[in-house]
Order: sequence, then structure tokens, then C-alpha cells
Amino acid sequence: MAKFVFVTGGVCSGLGKGITASSIALLLKAKGYKVFMQKFDPYMNVDPGTMSPIQHGEVFVTYDGCETDLDLGHYERFIDEELNYTSNITNGKIYSSVIEKERKGDFLGATIQIVPHISNEIKNKIYEAASSSGADIVITEIGGTVGDIESAVMMETLRQFRAEQGLENTLFVHTTLIPYLFGSNELKTKPTQNSIIELRRLGIQPDILVTRAPVPLTDHVKEKLALFGSIPEQNIIEAVDVQNIYQIPINFHNQHIEDIILQQFGLKITKSNLDYWYQLIDTVDNLQDEIEIALVGKYTELEDAYLSVKEALKHAGYKFNTKIKINWVNSELLEKDKTNIQEIFQNTKGILVPGGFGSRGIEGKIKAANYARVHNIPYLGICLGMQVAVIEFARNVCKLKEATSREFNPLTTEPIIDLMADQKSIVNMGGTLRLGNYECTITKGTKTYAAYQQETIYERHRHRYEFNNKYKDLLASKGLLFTGINTPSNLVEIIELKNHPYFVACQFHPEFKSRPTRPHPLFASFIAAAIKYAKSQK
Ligand code: GLN
Repeated sequence: MAKFVFVTGGVCSGLGKGITASSIALLLKAKGYKVFMQKFDPYMNVDPGTMSPIQHGEVFVTYDGCETDLDLGHYERFIDEELNYTSNITNGKIYSSVIEKERKGDFLGATIQIVPHISNEIKNKIYEAASSSGADIVITEIGGTVGDIESAVMMETLRQFRAEQGLENTLFVHTTLIPYLFGSNELKTKPTQNSIIELRRLGIQPDILVTRAPVPLTDHVKEKLALFGSIPEQNIIEAVDVQNIYQIPINFHNQHIEDIILQQFGLKITKSNLDYWYQLIDTVDNLQDEIEIALVGKYTELEDAYLSVKEALKHAGYKFNTKIKINWVNSELLEKDKTNIQEIFQNTKGILVPGGFGSRGIEGKIKAANYARVHNIPYLGICLGMQVAVIEFARNVCKLKEATSREFNPLTTEPIIDLMADQKSIVNMGGTLRLGNYECTITKGTKTYAAYQQETIYERHRHRYEFNNKYKDLLASKGLLFTGINTPSNLVEIIELKNHPYFVACQFHPEFKSRPTRPHPLFASFIAAAIKYAKSQK
């Protein structure tokens, strides 16, 4: 039987609940326990797939094709376990499944109510995650802030869950803010006291408090929190601000958070295996060199829209002892006649065009791909970044002036990027992209193969449009190599340029599989090429 840790948030959002949950999971794994993670999002969307990144940051995709909250990216990067459909639960998913069951007649005779029908459905999702993963400990993070009307039923479910499972099988971690008042120069505990009261009103007593504060807590503040919160002082864990998020598990470990959890669960407190993590932190804190990589997108003022790409770049940098400085380039800016592109890319040693949807800023991205190709600057294209690279090549090398994607011009005469037959019949927008893992076969003797050193790979997808194979021979005759192909569909997965130091682009999202201690092969080879390019410039 599994044990369950629930992570809630108080006072305000943005306190790092996701990192807290991930750190706890990492520390429990380091003790030899099998862990699994879940995120509850209280919104009514079935998944974040149709949301703008402005609303919710990037959409993370699991190997089995679930479009999820970006916190799942943190989870996977910290615990290095592949999560799945059971890992992201939204109110939208829960309600639609209960209503579907009602229509089918599963509850004939009954009045369908929030309690017990919705709460039972949520409970089942927790049990399902435990049984399908076979984990010893499931860590579930609840989105939003305690007291939100949206999450009320989720919190009610957790109350019932604890009543059913008892203290020895469930543990509540409450992350909270301790504000500091300049002037009177003191830390204030009242907002936290109030959010604990709010939790109790919902029938939940937290076991551990994780506090975010700009300065260390004084003994007096800890005593007060312990007294008002009915929480043992040693269960108050300080989350001090850090430069490098991978430091957080170690800060928690130094305060024995995992021992407190294991003790409550009556599980053995074994020795932690954290050497690899200490090594990582040492690397991150002592990077010798720095290079600039341009990331060309339309949400560059919003770094969370490219969170996994940003992390994957950093991971590849760690491998080469190099700090990656990101030059955030707004693609719409590149479209303006007055813009001096040369100046924008002046210090840039590699250009990355990430995924995206819609036509806004697309010509700017095509210009960025062109700049990289013509100036022999290393280029990595991801999803839309592969599509724009192919369009650029078709237009400027193959002289197909009208080349574009059907996404940007449904009536185009040169649909280099097109809708496949199976996508043409689709009417619903939600959940109907090509999602999750697909197999790809790599051609030996290419830069792509040199990166992967493997013939068969699996990568995660999230897109609707594909390279149009009708143009394959023409583009190949001009020097475009199709280095990764999905069989049996014959869809193009990876391309590279023959006569270029490093110009590689893929239809999938390699960033989702990058780990701090194990950079993704395409990111690693891209950064290696960028470093080489930087040296050649000196
Ligand atoms: N908009 C493109 C498509 O749907 C690319 C998607 C992406 O970059 N994730 O195919």
C-alpha cells in the first residue's frame, strides 16, 4: 500500500510549490523509495492544451501524449521518472468524466453531487496513480492557493482521503510566505496563521510547513508559527531564495524533511544517495565559460512559455562547463524593416527557434533561420522551428517563393508544411494534435546520428502540421538531409543541412526529455557546435 504526500499553497501563488513537491520527491527517491508525482489543477479546462502560454506558461507533454501543466516538467527534471496521463488532473477532466458516466447511466437513480460523486472521482485518480505506478510514495501538488473557490472540492477530497487513510499514510505539506516589513524590520507570521486557519476550516491540519521568506526565520518567529499552527518546530522547513533551483533539495535535506516524512509513515530512514546531486550543484556553481544563444519566439517577455527549452539549454551548458546566456529575441521585431538583425545577433553563437502556433511573428522566425543558414551560425529548430527552417530553405534555395505552411495560409499553392489526411477530418481543437512519443529512425553518418549515437529513438510530439513529402526530392537535391524518419508513416522527424557546421531541426520536442544530469543529445550537440563557433570567432 502506498503512502501519500499532499502539497498545498497558502498566502499567494508563485511560492515554488512545484519545486517544493519535486524536491521532496527527489529526496524520498534518494532514500531508495519508488516515487510518483501528480498535479491537481483546479481550472475547468480538460487540459492546458488550448490555453495561451500567457495564461499558463508552456504546455508540458508526457510520453503517452498528455498535455499538462509546466510543473510536470519540474517533476520529471528533478526525479528523472517519466510521468503519464494519471499525473495531471483538472476539474475539467473530473467533471466531464462524471457527467459522461451520468449520461451513460452509471449512477441510475441517484442525484449527482459534488460530494460524493466528484470527490470520489478525484479520490480514484489518486488511487489510480498509486496502483498504476506501483510507487511507495505518491506526491500530489494542489494548484492555486488554499481558500480558492476553484479548489474547494479538491481540498474536501483530501480531507476525506486523510480520514480514510489516517496519519500514518498521509502527510500534508503547506508552503507559505512569511513577508518581511522594512521599516519595522520584522517578519510577519499573520498571513501564514490565517492560511493555516483556512486549511483547518477545510478540515485539514498541515504536518509540515515550508516557509518562503527573504531572510532566515528567527527562533521567535519559528516558535510563533509552531504554536499557532500546531506544528512541531522541527517540521518548519525554511525555503530560502536561491540562485540555482537545483540547490533547493539539498537545503531541504539539511533540514531533514525526508526523515520527518518517513518517520510519520513508519518507513525506514535509510542513507541518502545524493552524491550525483551534490556534483550537479558543484558544476552549476562553478561554470567556467559563457556563451550567448538567441531564442527567437513571440512570447520572449514571458520566459515560462519556453521553460523546458530554457532548462534544456542550461543542462547542455553544464556538460561543457559553460553558462548559457539567453538572448531573448522577439520574432516580430525581426520583421520590421528598421531592425538591424546583425546587431541583434552580434554576440550570438547559436540560434534556436522553439515551438509555436499561429502566424504571428512567423516571418521573423524565417528570417532568423535564414540568418543562421547564411552566416554559418549553429541552428537548432524545434517543431515550428523545423517548419520555418524548411520553408526558408524552400523559398531561398529552391526558389519556391510561395512556400509556406498551410497553418499560415490555408490556400497556399506551395504547402511545404501541410495537414495530413488524418488531421483534415478533425473538428475539435482540444487533445487532437499529434501528441506524445513516436519512433524515429536516424540515418547513419549524419550530424544527427553523431548526436544520438543510436538508430532508433523515441521523442515527444505536440503539433498538427507535417513536412510535405512531395517536396522531399527537390529539397534533398539542393542539400537538405532528411536524417530522421518515422516509420511506417514516413513522416519527417529530423532534418539537417549538408553544407553547414550545425543546422539541425526536429519536428518533436527534445526539451521535454532533457535532465540536469543528462542533457538531451540534440541540445548537447547544438551547444558543442556553438562553443566551437565561438572559438572560431576569437
Ligand atoms: N504550429 C505547428 C503545428 O501545429 C508547430 C507546433 C509546435 O511548434 N509545437 O504543426
